[in-house]
Amino acid sequence: MRRLLPKIFRLLLSGKTSSFVFEPQEVTLPPNPSGINLYIHLPFCRQLCPFCPYVKAVYNHATSAAYKQAIIKELEGYRGRWGNASVESVYFGGGTPSLTPEIIGETLEWLKRNFHLGGEIGVEVHPLDATNSVLKSLRDSGVNMVSLGVQSFNDQRLKALGRDYDSNLAKEACQRVLGAGFATVDIDLIFAIPGQSVDELEDDIGYAVALGADQLSAYPLMFFAYMPFRQKLERAKAEMPGWWAEREMLKVAVKAASAAGYRRTSIWSFNKPEARRYTTVTKDSFVGVGVGASTMMGDYFSVNTFSLPEYIRATAKGLKPALAAKLDDRDKLAYWLFWRCYDLAIDTGKLKQLFGRGLPFPIRGLLPLLKGLGVIERRGDTIYLTESGAYLFHLIEKEYTHAYLERLWGACLKEAWPKRVVI
Ligand code: SF4
Repeated sequence: MRRLLPKIFRLLLSGKTSSFVFEPQEVTLPPNPSGINLYIHLPFCRQLCPFCPYVKAVYNHATSAAYKQAIIKELEGYRGRWGNASVESVYFGGGTPSLTPEIIGETLEWLKRNFHLGGEIGVEVHPLDATNSVLKSLRDSGVNMVSLGVQSFNDQRLKALGRDYDSNLAKEACQRVLGAGFATVDIDLIFAIPGQSVDELEDDIGYAVALGADQLSAYPLMFFAYMPFRQKLERAKAEMPGWWAEREMLKVAVKAASAAGYRRTSIWSFNKPEARRYTTVTKDSFVGVGVGASTMMGDYFSVNTFSLPEYIRATAKGLKPALAAKLDDRDKLAYWLFWRCYDLAIDTGKLKQLFGRGLPFPIRGLLPLLKGLGVIERRGDTIYLTESGAYLFHLIEKEYTHAYLERLWGACLKEAWPKRVVI
């Protein structure tokens, strides 16, 4: 049943059950986008954590220098198309972007010279990089939001995740980042780590709150077939939290964050009332730059090659997406609704403004039932997911992430230029 959730949800949001087909194809981008959201992937890390499903590589000076040139080359392609357009947000994710602050600084300088750059400039920072000099360099480059990848304040859980620092270092890193003058500091935590108890997660949230995080993000640990982490834990007879423990942990995170005055801004994030949200994938459209980056723009969802050498080689000749799926109006509407569910609020006025229509029939017909079951509530033009609704969506989002990463990312990690992937 769990595995059917994404299909059922897709049917409800778009009235379709057909799959997404990703193939190599020409992608036509809109000529004059009104505001561009950029995501720039910097894949280098000191070491590779066994639980991490992202596109990453161990840092190497020569490769990182070549990579810096490659991302500017890719950006030049967009300048040719959209030169001087306004860029509303830039997020650097990874990998460990804070390991290469010089790439961030030079890329932002280039963007300032070639586009109208304003708004959110966010960077993921590893606790080991949160030194005064790196933080100053990020501030001087114009970075105004930081997401600090703490994952846990518990030494045993950090060890289980293969992280290369301890809880004291994590706390000191938080203090330095929070004192460095960024508009938003997000502290990233992971829950449902093998061996973790509900009390430990409550302690983690308590530390992040006491340190003064503007935003708390708590993501469930997920396992993917292309990473042997789960098997490794099972061989080591690690105590794996079941679905009930995971549910209790999410409940505790919600309760602890709300008791501390944070508002829930998505199924997995909580913000101080005045804090601007650090968020990348929830934008209506975005352009991904770098190895393995994805782009949602106009009629296409596309991904760059996941091979670092191929990415560097291909950008020299004019990079084409490795795979792209063409989206029709119903797909785009479903995509938008999916992320609004993730944000826990669907503004039907905004829906009308963007798509010229109301909710699609299947979901509209179910609203009274969902309301009766306590999954949603309506206030004015906005439909909100209740705590039960948020839990249901937590399950759906996990299944989607699984399907998307296992099939699309799994195929792209196996082959630099896959022929076809169906999700
Ligand atoms: S979790 Fe972060 S530091 Fe670890 S391998 Fe993944 S991207 Fe690199």
